[in-house]
Amino acid sequence: MSKFKTLDGLDVKGKRVVLRADFNVPFNKEGQITDTSRIDRTVPTIQELVKGGASVVIVTHVGRPKGERNPDYTVKPLVAGLSKALGGTSVQFADDCTGDAVESTAKSLKAGEILLCENLRYYKEETKNDAGFAEKLSKLGDLFVNDAFSTAHRAHASTEGITKFLPSYAGRLMQSEVEALSSALEKPQKPVAAVVGGAKVSSKIDVLTNLMEKVDVLVIGGGMANTFLAAQGINVGKSLCEKDFLDTARNIMEKAKKVGCEIVLPTDATVAKEFAENAQNRVCSVNDIKEDEMMLDIGTESAKFVAEKLKTCKTVVWNGPMGAFEIKPFDMGTVAAAKAAAQATKAGTLTSVAGGGDTVSALELAGAKDDFTYISTAGGAFLEWLEGKTLPGVEAVRA
Ligand code: AMP
Repeated sequence: MSKFKTLDGLDVKGKRVVLRADFNVPFNKEGQITDTSRIDRTVPTIQELVKGGASVVIVTHVGRPKGERNPDYTVKPLVAGLSKALGGTSVQFADDCTGDAVESTAKSLKAGEILLCENLRYYKEETKNDAGFAEKLSKLGDLFVNDAFSTAHRAHASTEGITKFLPSYAGRLMQSEVEALSSALEKPQKPVAAVVGGAKVSSKIDVLTNLMEKVDVLVIGGGMANTFLAAQGINVGKSLCEKDFLDTARNIMEKAKKVGCEIVLPTDATVAKEFAENAQNRVCSVNDIKEDEMMLDIGTESAKFVAEKLKTCKTVVWNGPMGAFEIKPFDMGTVAAAKAAAQATKAGTLTSVAGGGDTVSALELAGAKDDFTYISTAGGAFLEWLEGKTLPGVEAVRA
């Protein structure tokens, strides 16, 4: 990986820094933030800039206001959350992210002061990566720091366009995301495993194709495993199965064989007649699924096999659950595999990197989240990285 520009050695004293954060946090009906992790993880960058004597102008998006000023998507409620995360430091708010008023507020900031600007996506020019809009954003500061890895898969004005107008650097969160992900797939300690689960093969073809070139073991679970089993002629009953993707699954298996990547599919299944919490279920061989049954989780034998397999590996990347983990008891396979990876990580024998919204919830459920080496806050960007794509937001801060 070519180097990228970080805050190391950067003198920010007396400078105004435009910081692209991803504060796209979830809110409940009462308008309270239900998960502050995206804010919390940007705090080290903000504190480092403030400590270095900079003033910080933060730009972010929240939701998809589709290029229109819509109060439902105002970032104003983030002011209190950010201030709290910063230990009570005061945070100012500007009700726009471009224009004379916000430019003049930004210019008047003293060292250490923090300004949060209104939602970038009130402007359609943001997602269109409009050069004029990017230039306007650049007027808010002297330097640009991008800490929003989770939006790095999109070339937007605030992630890519702005870097044409200001000296640009990666913030500490962006740096830790890229370093963790690179250490897992670029020069990983071998053997390397990838655990890929989730609902559909169709949404993860590129992930599987890229990963098989890089890993020694590819564990396939979740609904997508059904399609692979069906592609081998196994009757999966009324399990979620993409009949149009049987050839794709066969091609993936053939290619994996050629490149020496071992594909691990479930040999037994936890099946039920309905997709419901505590639905009556049984564990059977994948060859014994009845017409009116569906596989909602890998079986106990498979869960054990995956857990043991992970213990023999030195690196694992994980995306997607092994079963319908949101409804008990179909979380068994995901929990067992996650616990095995967490234990091996804790014992120092495994480097474990996971990402994607569902994956993070699944690992949380397993009580395994804190023991993983690195959990990415990114969903789409994490997947595109697994697909082997270059991320424009990361490229823009390369040295
Ligand atoms: P994805 O967004 O592709 O990672 O898929 C995650 C979703 O896949 C979760 O909501 C799971 O409930 C679902 N899922 C996993 N395994 C199965 C399965 N065997 N049958 C149906 N849905 C599943």
